[in-house]
Amino acid sequence: MNHDVIVLGAGLAGLAAARDLAAGGADVLVIEARDRVGGRVEQTELPDGRLVQLGGEVAGWAHTAYLTLVEELGLSIVPSYVAEPGFMARATPEGISAGDPPHWFGAADDACHRRLTAAFTALAHSVDPDDPWSHPEAAALDALSVAEWLRSEGASHAVVRLWEIGQLALASGSYERTSLLSALRKHAAVPGGDETDHYDYEDWEGLRVAEGSATVALRMADALAQRIRLGAPVDEVAVRRGGCTVHLAGGETLTAGAVVSALPVGPLRRLTVTGVSDARLASLHRQRQAVAAKFVAAYDKPFWRASELSGLSECEGVLGSTWPQNEGILSALVPPERYGVLLGMPEALREHELLGDIARLYGEEAHSPLSTYTRMWGTDPFTQGYVTQWTPGDVMAVGPLHATHEPPFYVCGSDQWVAGYMEGAVRTGRAAAKEALTRG
Ligand SMILES: Cc1cc2nc3c(=O)[nH]c(=O)nc-3n(C[C@H](O)[C@H](O)[C@H](O)COP(=O)(O)OP(=O)(O)OC[C@H]3O[C@@H](n4cnc5c(N)ncnc54)[C@H](O)[C@@H]3O)c2cc1C
Repeated sequence: MNHDVIVLGAGLAGLAAARDLAAGGADVLVIEARDRVGGRVEQTELPDGRLVQLGGEVAGWAHTAYLTLVEELGLSIVPSYVAEPGFMARATPEGISAGDPPHWFGAADDACHRRLTAAFTALAHSVDPDDPWSHPEAAALDALSVAEWLRSEGASHAVVRLWEIGQLALASGSYERTSLLSALRKHAAVPGGDETDHYDYEDWEGLRVAEGSATVALRMADALAQRIRLGAPVDEVAVRRGGCTVHLAGGETLTAGAVVSALPVGPLRRLTVTGVSDARLASLHRQRQAVAAKFVAAYDKPFWRASELSGLSECEGVLGSTWPQNEGILSALVPPERYGVLLGMPEALREHELLGDIARLYGEEAHSPLSTYTRMWGTDPFTQGYVTQWTPGDVMAVGPLHATHEPPFYVCGSDQWVAGYMEGAVRTGRAAAKEALTRG
């Protein structure tokens, strides 16, 4: 059967695109490799009814496309962990501290940190997030890592360490290997962003969907129903005006007038795609992802509150961070620089070692969770990463074809926005659908 549009991938981007295409009158079919929808948003339920998020979780005030979709779906937005009482903890091999300043700061470090934050945010104002390539110094800013820039501006070792521990807490790649231009672009993508912080938690992480972030995907999928095919990995796409073909690993061939790829950049590289310009494929295949794992420990209560801690932490263990995702449930991320350590650990020891990192922060009760979940997103064949990553030189190498289309081949997915996130998935998914409906 011939379709108007075939969407590859049933993550937030693919589902948001398909939803708008269907609403616009298109005959759309979504092809998904896994036997579930949602991609990088996934949830499970504890016997006591609490939902556990194993992937994408929180959003922020700046995530307008995501918040609009959530409202359209009739779901509710509530404050996330940023509203938790208590201090954030920081753990390094030589010490642990609660609140600011971090334990490794000396007398002059706070002023140095503030000065560099102001310099960074001022520089970010000169970058157009939709067109960073137009910056007169684009290539030079892209060639420099954030850490190199900090040092060139006179940052002390202690200040570089604070920026780095924060970056690894997000499980993005190290600031030693992050393009300055990409970091400035991310900051510039948040209109009216905070001038006193280079990453504003309220703007990026202050909210969550009360019904569970994966419910956003499940709701869209419910409405699309028969238009979604699960358990059907795509391995080949031939793009032609007047008839595209999509070949499934199982041997079947489907046809459509247009194709929307909503695949992460890693899995997309595995597909054979023909009929699309070499320049576009080179751009798409040049993009990379930060490889990360998520660990969740569910407890009967948030025991860390007794020590006046919020559950939010930045750490230099195998874990890079923890935060409370729901009452008594701690989320944690393993950043790319430490993913190999986790991967190399015998599976039977992983839980104990990761709980050890949590116990160092919050006490021995950490070793008695009701249940734990380890999700190795970085080596999952249908994700191969976690969030988009730009090492020095990547923004220029991917170039202005980023997030653009070559009808009848359309591209969306969180990797096609400045910095990934659920916002990137929804924003680019809806934009791709609009473009496909307009061009016919
Ligand atoms: C641990 C973790 C924590 C995160 N935390 C947050 C957060 O708190 N806030 C936030 O905003 N973002 C967060 N993110 C990022 C966010 O979840 C993702 O950016 C977003 O969900 C990606 O959506 P997507 O549709 O672009 O891609 P995906 O969700 O990856 O969807 C792509 C789909 O394509 C399918 N697919 C792959 N290969 C094939 C193939 N060959 N054929 C057919 N289908 C295929 C996949 O199975 C998948 O369903 C997190 C991500 C992870 C992994």
